[in-house]
Amino acid sequence: MVRDEERLERFLVDESGLGRFPAECAVLAESRAEVELVLRLAQEHRVPVTPRGAGTGMTGGCLPAKGGIVLSTERMTKIVEIDTDDLVAVVEPGVVLGDFAAAVEAAGLFYPPDPASLASCTLGGNVAENAGGPRAFKYGVTREYVLGLESVRMGGEVLRCGRRTQKGVVGYDVTAALVGSEGTFAVATELTLKLLPKPPAVQTLLAVFADPIAAGQAVTRAIHLGARPRALELLDRATIDHLRGRTPYRLPDGAGAVLLCELDGDPEGLDHALMRCAQACEAAGAIDVLIAQSEQQRRDLWETRRRANPTLKELHRHKIAEDVVVPRGAMPEMLRRIDAIAAAADVPIATYGHAGDGNLHINVLVDEEQIPERAYGAIDALMRATLELRGSLAGEHGVGLMKMKYVPWEQAPPLLRIQRELKRVFDPDDLLNPGKIFPS
Ligand SMILES: Cc1cc2nc3c(=O)[nH]c(=O)nc-3n(C[C@H](O)[C@H](O)[C@H](O)COP(=O)(O)OP(=O)(O)OC[C@H]3O[C@@H](n4cnc5c(N)ncnc54)[C@H](O)[C@@H]3O)c2cc1C
Repeated sequence: MVRDEERLERFLVDESGLGRFPAECAVLAESRAEVELVLRLAQEHRVPVTPRGAGTGMTGGCLPAKGGIVLSTERMTKIVEIDTDDLVAVVEPGVVLGDFAAAVEAAGLFYPPDPASLASCTLGGNVAENAGGPRAFKYGVTREYVLGLESVRMGGEVLRCGRRTQKGVVGYDVTAALVGSEGTFAVATELTLKLLPKPPAVQTLLAVFADPIAAGQAVTRAIHLGARPRALELLDRATIDHLRGRTPYRLPDGAGAVLLCELDGDPEGLDHALMRCAQACEAAGAIDVLIAQSEQQRRDLWETRRRANPTLKELHRHKIAEDVVVPRGAMPEMLRRIDAIAAAADVPIATYGHAGDGNLHINVLVDEEQIPERAYGAIDALMRATLELRGSLAGEHGVGLMKMKYVPWEQAPPLLRIQRELKRVFDPDDLLNPGKIFPS
């Protein structure tokens, strides 16, 4: 248990930028039995508990909003098994995604979910947030890979749900309800995950456009031509301008948008699919199309994309990160509206994200010490535009504390009521990660 103020500090913040939330202590559980004990005692003494993985969450999900105990599963790092016949892995929740993906690859298999935080985020946090990432376009998000869960409810009751088999329809899909519940239903202690055969080959292409609208059109064209990339990532002009001179790939002057496209599959079909993507980019007006010629060049292109988030953070006092998702066809219109909102509110906005899914990470950038009202106004306008275009307010980062205000904008009272009732089924006294997702 950590009570010492200095050591406790890192458990009171995350990557949301929401600041520090005080708590009594952090417990670093090493086993399911310790999680059971904490949740039993906390229930008896009516103490709030906030589950935590690596703290890379972008919406404040692991912040102890009501104080009490931070229950970290970061020390539960066992990969229990990787079964190459059943294509199943069983892991503890504190395993870091990057370590797991490497172990799976070493066994000749593939685990597709790949949030850009993969070097540090935990599988428990991925499951709680239903994390996505670039490869979601072809392979879907974390939920598609969670076959079964062992979790502990407030009070210490152990709940095992789901299965080890590829199929199974007994009872309600409680596993699916737990995935994405942001640590408000139960604390995951063991995950049974689906694996895939490793794709034999991967090819990566980067296309440069004069503006993001043309890049958005290239995405639509590539899909119409039957291409099925595993990732289609977009950087807009403001993001490129911030990145210039700071990335391994030299972003050309005058670039208004960059599209990073990656395909996988059999080498014979792959060249053909890559050409189709290149043609779609050229037809949409690409200024330049570069096909990675080596593994190093491929890594450099991805590093260029991954630098977007940390660079914007380094260069501005505040980076308010939104994570909206719109139907793919509405993406060019959403990009137009983002520009108009930035101009009207007079705040810089940089956008990047998973273009194949219509999932845009829109960053409102502020250099003043206090975030001005016009920045909040811009965020409200972004949310309104998203809903007008029949999108959703959170694509993959969850709601946490940060997006709570907007949940009733998207969901009607009957749906909100049924979700509150569901929360009471798992946690009647509202002690597990209280004060999250739904405004009180
Ligand atoms: C640079 C960067 C890039 C990112 N890129 C992506 C991306 O591409 N796609 C994406 O989806 N996200 C991305 N994220 C967001 C973040 O990494 C993910 O949400 C990740 O899944 C959080 O994992 P974590 O271990 O850090 O969880 P934490 O931040 O510690 O917690 C997140 C939530 O999970 C809950 N939780 C944690 N462990 C458990 C458990 N054992 N049982 C129950 N609940 C638990 C917490 O209560 C909290 O609600 C990014 C973040 C950063 C900083």
